[in-house]
Amino acid sequence: MSFKIGVIGTGYVGLVSGTSFAATGNEVLCIDIDEKKVETMKSGKSPIYEPGLEHLLVRNIKEGRLKFSTNLEEAVIKSQVIFLCLPTPPSEDGSADLQHVLKVANQIADIILSNDLKDEKIVVNKSTVPVGTAAKVSGIFETKLENNTVSVVSNPEFLREGFAVEDAMKPERVVIGTSSATAEAIMSDLYQPFVRSGNPIFIMDEKSAEVTKYAANAFLATKISFMNDLSAYCEKVGADIEQIRSGIGSDSRIGKRFLFAGVGYGGSCFPKDVQALEYSADLVGSPLHIVKATRKVNQEQIYRFINKIKNRFVNLSELKIALWGLAFKPDTDDVREAPSFVLIEELLKEGVSITAYDQEAMGNTHHHFGDKIEYADDMYSCCEGKDALVIVTEWNAFRNPSFDKLKGLLKRKIVFDGRNLFQPEEMDSIGFEHYPVGRGFMKTYK
Ligand code: NAD
Repeated sequence: MSFKIGVIGTGYVGLVSGTSFAATGNEVLCIDIDEKKVETMKSGKSPIYEPGLEHLLVRNIKEGRLKFSTNLEEAVIKSQVIFLCLPTPPSEDGSADLQHVLKVANQIADIILSNDLKDEKIVVNKSTVPVGTAAKVSGIFETKLENNTVSVVSNPEFLREGFAVEDAMKPERVVIGTSSATAEAIMSDLYQPFVRSGNPIFIMDEKSAEVTKYAANAFLATKISFMNDLSAYCEKVGADIEQIRSGIGSDSRIGKRFLFAGVGYGGSCFPKDVQALEYSADLVGSPLHIVKATRKVNQEQIYRFINKIKNRFVNLSELKIALWGLAFKPDTDDVREAPSFVLIEELLKEGVSITAYDQEAMGNTHHHFGDKIEYADDMYSCCEGKDALVIVTEWNAFRNPSFDKLKGLLKRKIVFDGRNLFQPEEMDSIGFEHYPVGRGFMKTYK
């Protein structure tokens, strides 16, 4: 069965979800307040870098199932199911800022009221929101509409940037939080095409769905922080975090993924979600101690890495570094909460000259830093005449560089390997000073 769907907020989640719903035969109208973005999407161009997205976007626009507009009213009037894919950034106190979600919920209620709409509608919260938000949004409709026909559903999104299309089209699971039988039936129908290979749809209450999303992100962040914490210990006792990773990761109870030590997690989700969960738990007097530690370790990890650079050189104001990687992870142009930004800020304060290269994130970085740093055309020219190479994002292209070429380009053969891309013994044997993360005693080359 095909549905008429409105998607409000067309960022990473909204654009990918809207396009995926169109690709499975639904009629989708995507709304955003950003006119420029809407015009870009109308022309079949994706405003974000996400593998496979543009192809799907063009096809569904051409086949008439996917449209873009700034007109919220049109979407509310036409749609049976309205997805809220709005930002929930951190407030100053660390809580999730719900202003966008609550504002749009109020606008939807006003549109229903002023157009005297009587059909049943489902408003689905896909944004990551704290426990109790579905109840808050329901409250808006119940207060404003005398004969309320709106059901509110919590349907958190688990897609990963860089794999967003794949994750949206073939989710490992779908979580639907609802107490309405009609909403449950419609949402299950809507998601059927995505779970044909047998992945589950979990129906639960709204609060549990909301907490499931935060718990998933906090748990993954905890795995990363655990390994980063351990990496500092490894450097003190001379153990190798990479060998430990293999040793524990092959235990199916632990699992292989999210065990890579590095410069810490970033992005638009983990940092704010960990913080928001911590805030919410403190608020009800049930502090989450592991979540707090996860956040603390993550904050410290990037500074541990920066300090390795600072401690290696005598005169930082004369230092010139090549920086490989700006995006918070590979295969995205997203630089929100990227560890690279902390590193750049800190090194600029010391007067270090930075030349950066990233396959996709140079534009977004330029928006933030402008000409305070230089931008290279490719990964090799980035290194020309530099005192050291610093690697912060593990793009595949950085994994097997020509070290002969690098030797010829770098002024000094020094590599700060923030993602453990290279083997310490090999780097040693070819004459590079190599500073990985958590791989045996920290060498002192000076
Ligand atoms: P985003 O910032 O990329 O996109 C949000 C979009 O909403 C923007 O295009 C913005 O212009 C638009 N917008 C803001 N106010 C609006 C309004 N009043 N009306 C219409 N449009 C409006 O955000 P995102 O990364 O897509 O995240 C959205 C939500 O999904 C957040 O809660 C986030 O935590 C969650 N989430 C994100 C990811 C991810 O990987 N990015 C994954 C899972 C969940």
